[in-house]
Amino acid sequence: MKAAIIGSGVGGLATAIRLAAKGYRVTVFEQSERIGGKLNELRMGDFRFDTGPSLFTLPNLVDELFDVAGEGKSNAFEYKQLENVTRYFYPNGKVLNSWADPKRFAHEAEIVLGEPATNIENYLNECEELYNLTANMFMFSPFPTWEGFKSEEAKKIGLNLKKLKAFETMHKVNKRSFKQKETIQLFNRFATYNGSNPYKAPGTLTIIPHLEHNIGAYFPKKGMYSIALSMFELAQKLGVKFHLNCPVQRIEYNNGKVAGIKANGIADSYDIVVNNTDIFTAYPSQMPDSKLSWFYKRHEPSSSALIFYWGVKGTHPQLDVHNILFSNNYAKEFEILGRKGITNDPTVYVFISSKAVTSDAPEGHENWFVMVNVPPDYGQDWKELTAQAKTNIITKIKRELNIDIEPKILTEEILSPPLIEQKTGSYRGALYGISSNNRFAAFSRHPNRSKSIKGLYFVGGSVHPGGGIPLCLASAKIVDNMIKPI
Ligand SMILES: Cc1cc2nc3c(=O)[nH]c(=O)nc-3n(C[C@H](O)[C@H](O)[C@H](O)COP(=O)(O)OP(=O)(O)OC[C@H]3O[C@@H](n4cnc5c(N)ncnc54)[C@H](O)[C@@H]3O)c2cc1C
Repeated sequence: MKAAIIGSGVGGLATAIRLAAKGYRVTVFEQSERIGGKLNELRMGDFRFDTGPSLFTLPNLVDELFDVAGEGKSNAFEYKQLENVTRYFYPNGKVLNSWADPKRFAHEAEIVLGEPATNIENYLNECEELYNLTANMFMFSPFPTWEGFKSEEAKKIGLNLKKLKAFETMHKVNKRSFKQKETIQLFNRFATYNGSNPYKAPGTLTIIPHLEHNIGAYFPKKGMYSIALSMFELAQKLGVKFHLNCPVQRIEYNNGKVAGIKANGIADSYDIVVNNTDIFTAYPSQMPDSKLSWFYKRHEPSSSALIFYWGVKGTHPQLDVHNILFSNNYAKEFEILGRKGITNDPTVYVFISSKAVTSDAPEGHENWFVMVNVPPDYGQDWKELTAQAKTNIITKIKRELNIDIEPKILTEEILSPPLIEQKTGSYRGALYGISSNNRFAAFSRHPNRSKSIKGLYFVGGSVHPGGGIPLCLASAKIVDNMIKPI
């Protein structure tokens, strides 16, 4: 049995490993010269940058691939837990470490923000309860299906509907959970982990802090791109063939059954095709005869990102691996984002992997990944927006960190929404497929199996259960469970 996988994003790589371990002859077709999709890296002189994801949760989903492949622990992928998940800087000068240990984190929030520690402890307990109630059904099952609705789990959810917090926004949940506006802002930020707006997204998204604060945030010993590379090596070990620089033009099917693919002008037959590319671009380009239903098209894309990769002279002990410089007015920031613009006072994320992986920057230097959330690409003037954002970011770093960063920047690369779309095929440069800006988003993602074409499957951030590394790995697991062993 032959399986073709279109795209080598994290979802495509995980599916390749799982199907090869099942005995399929797997070939991966990747349009780019590099594997990994959004999970990628960039080298500038002696600096190395992870260009996409930087926060790594649920690493057990990567470990599981090594188990599935029958690899011993000694060959497994290496990572460590971060002691401090994120360092938060507020415009009023307060600085808060969100320690991995929930009690330590809650204690620090009480001292720095004046937030009663019990508020954070109770909140994180509720996040855990929500995760335990919903994760299996929403993250690891081929939802929504009628079988799913009738399952014991669904009944349990039905009996605990209030705990889902689906009928209030994430901001509303956080507002009634915390006393201080800084704590509300901190927990509102988790909506951005799937490209959503906390003032619109349902409170159900409060499941996200559980991943980071109760289970833990991790960092691979060789940086984020090593997640993709280790999966690539594992897949090759299992005999998976990779064709790079090889865009797939067509998914071939007839009489409601998949027949194969056409890549680089050459058609080949396959029993199974797994599409790992964004469905919003895949349908019109690779399956022009099969229209993507209006049902999936009506949702807004998730947010995108504008990122500056700076090779920086000097080291900055006031910063950690993950740092957030909050904006003064979070609600306004999202309101402007909703109007497809960027506020002059954006929340700035500074990720410095060289603090964890010293070889990522020469001695006495750091590799800064400086990101702001931006709207998807609707044809805005990105040259103008980028120039304005850069000025605003540099001013903010000077004002809040007292670092005059501009003269320290030795090398620079920039990633914007149109470039994200160009490099990864992601519709409008969205980072996480569709946003969760309404309470039905969890039910509105494209399923992992085609309803009309037998043998055609979908994996990755644009389909169920959604974007982000853990969910893409979960989608691969769902697809794996749908495909019978040989
Ligand atoms: C800047 C940024 C920051 C992020 N931060 C985080 C984070 O901190 N934590 C987190 O968990 N997630 C984060 N994400 C999201 C995460 O990166 C994605 O959800 C995930 O990597 C998407 O994987 P995927 O399987 O959907 O495939 P993608 O990464 O979307 O890859 C799809 C692949 O398909 C290829 N392709 C497209 N069309 C074709 C074709 N016709 N033929 C062949 N190949 C094709 C593309 O070249 C690409 O390699 C971030 C993303 C970005 C961009």
